[in-house]
Amino acid sequence: MTYPKIAIIGGGPAGLTLARLLQHNSIPCTVFEVDADRYARTQGGTLDLHEGSAQLALKEAGIYEQFLAHARPEGEVLKIYDATGRVLMDENEGVGVKRPSAMNNRPEIDRVLLRAMLLDSLAEDSVKWGMKLVKVEPHPDDETYNLHFASGHIETGFDIVVGADGAWSKVRPLVTDAKPFYSGISGLDVKLSDANVRNPDLGKRTGGGMCLTLGPNKGILAQRNGDGAVRCYAFMRAAESWEQDSGIDFSDMETAKKEFLERYFGDWDQGAKDMVLRSDPDSLVRSMYMLPIGLTWPSRAGIALIGDAAHLMTPFAGVGVNVAMEDSLHLARNIITVKDSWQTGLPAALQKYDADMFVRAEEYAKQTWMYLGLFFHERGGIAMVEHFERTRSREAATAAEEEAKTTALRTEAAREESEKGTLETGGPEVHASGLEIPSPVVAGIGQHVE
Ligand SMILES: Cc1cc2nc3c(=O)[nH]c(=O)nc-3n(C[C@H](O)[C@H](O)[C@H](O)COP(=O)(O)OP(=O)(O)OC[C@H]3O[C@@H](n4cnc5c(N)ncnc54)[C@H](O)[C@@H]3O)c2cc1C
Repeated sequence: MTYPKIAIIGGGPAGLTLARLLQHNSIPCTVFEVDADRYARTQGGTLDLHEGSAQLALKEAGIYEQFLAHARPEGEVLKIYDATGRVLMDENEGVGVKRPSAMNNRPEIDRVLLRAMLLDSLAEDSVKWGMKLVKVEPHPDDETYNLHFASGHIETGFDIVVGADGAWSKVRPLVTDAKPFYSGISGLDVKLSDANVRNPDLGKRTGGGMCLTLGPNKGILAQRNGDGAVRCYAFMRAAESWEQDSGIDFSDMETAKKEFLERYFGDWDQGAKDMVLRSDPDSLVRSMYMLPIGLTWPSRAGIALIGDAAHLMTPFAGVGVNVAMEDSLHLARNIITVKDSWQTGLPAALQKYDADMFVRAEEYAKQTWMYLGLFFHERGGIAMVEHFERTRSREAATAAEEEAKTTALRTEAAREESEKGTLETGGPEVHASGLEIPSPVVAGIGQHVE
């Protein structure tokens, strides 16, 4: 059997999940990744993988058990402080008891562990490291594509090129001119290594999962990692040029952190500020970008985008990696469906992927935008707590409605069954012997009393 020649650009969660799904179904593919090797990336936060998307992708990829071995369900808890240090909500005594139930069953896994797990599941040599793509060029004589790398190296003859190369994708320009725009949120990205040992008070403050301190239009967002570190973001609504406008010298990060906190979080609770002040030296400034919500493009034969390359969104609904891996799942399924007739079937399969992905991405991006509004609300953390309470009340009302409907249906079914039973057992049966057989007494649905 011949297979299409498939290049996946980018070895992030989307690219590696797709590679695993294809290889698990005996379809060869090659991942081209800019990182020098699998050990190049040792940092990164933690990701919660959702049931119907990322977890489903791992199930179909045959590596769900490995995920369970690394997953941290205890990392799902959420705690919210206000800027004065008052606890507004704390789930550390009971996971998921205060958030909408749709947010439950989302165990955390460290980004580095997810990557290692996916890499270990792939065929040897299927990831080409140190390959920075600069351009994809359609072949002038056939319907294949050539890949141009920063080193000058060119790979030729790909029937499918999948852009899984994140925010600043070099595959995306083949289908759209759209570029990420600034979301209005920036700040510092810091890490407290070994938090419980080096800073036990801050470890305690964070708890086992996520700890948000939310004030008007700003937040200090901390997340427990599996290796004992706490990753923390001090983010705020700010103009894109805030870093230059501030006059703070971010090349001297230790001094910069103090000035940054003084200027933007001056009257905040000291516990929240200490999360930044006592962090490791290798902190960085980070700005959040996104692609337009509802972005679409005309499908192009042989080209597909997955994950952030297709629909970069801010992390505030915690769905980025989930929708990325869901893309991988749907693209893999569509390619697998036409694997015996790919020469004719591929264009329609990729078109279908695009059409479904656009709908899915828009939905998730809207959710993310809504959560950005809640994280950086002028009323601070109380807005998020109230949102959770409203959603839980709606969930409770819907559940009560469903319960009432089910009870009504059961009662109706029991009544019909009982009537049927009376009709069927209406009179005493007469055996061929001529003896009467006593009729059973119907006690409930199909239950006979001796
Ligand atoms: C601070 C922060 C916190 C986040 N927290 C969460 C969270 O809690 N939950 C969640 O669901 N999502 C979160 N996200 C979003 C999530 O990280 C992304 O949505 C997810 O990583 C997307 O996966 P991806 O594979 O599409 O892209 P990426 O993870 O960006 O992977 C892209 C890969 O492509 C490679 N690459 C890039 N350019 C090239 C090139 N030119 N040539 C070759 N290779 C290239 C990169 O090295 C990388 O390995 C967060 C994002 C950020 C920035």
